[in-house]
Amino acid sequence: MKYKRILLKLSGESLMGNDNYGINYQTVYHFASEIKSAVEMGVQVGVVIGGGNIFRGVQGASKGFDRRQGDQMGMLATIINAMAVQAVLEELDVKAKVFSAEEIEGVSEKISWRKSVETLEAGYVAILGGGTGNPFFTTDSGAALRAVEIKADLLLKGTRV
Ligand code: UDP
Repeated sequence: MKYKRILLKLSGESLMGNDNYGINYQTVYHFASEIKSAVEMGVQVGVVIGGGNIFRGVQGASKGFDRRQGDQMGMLATIINAMAVQAVLEELDVKAKVFSAEEIEGVSEKISWRKSVETLEAGYVAILGGGTGNPFFTTDSGAALRAVEIKADLLLKGTRV
């Protein structure tokens, strides 16, 4: 069966490659190339990205940070990762837009299921950052939410490669 629309969840850690933290260029390049192949086959690709390679609210709280603030930091981390994936997709001549719960001018547009679907139908990869937009949730919940919102045929989860 050929899928028309998929939602790919990439954990933050999956972007580290063999590094101990941060974003590994070659690893992002690998994911971006895979996404490009899917797009070339005519599949609409939405991507939800985690932030665990940069910050997790729970871990921050265990070290003394306020959990709510830490979760907001974690959500911002997902947007940094989204920007990395967007940058490499664009290098590969794949059009990609970043969305997040709140607009960041020049970086990401405010998310809505309608805009996400329009973006996919226009041939862009829609990178859905910021998780659900709420503290106390994870990007896995965000991926499930966005998958039903965009009516994805398939939800795929990539953890560490
Ligand atoms: N986060 C949040 N609400 C969400 C999604 C994420 O508060 O809806 C925060 C939370 O602190 C989480 C961090 O962002 O630890 C990074 O997301 P996650 O841990 O899901 O990333 P992954 O494990 O996929 O790298």
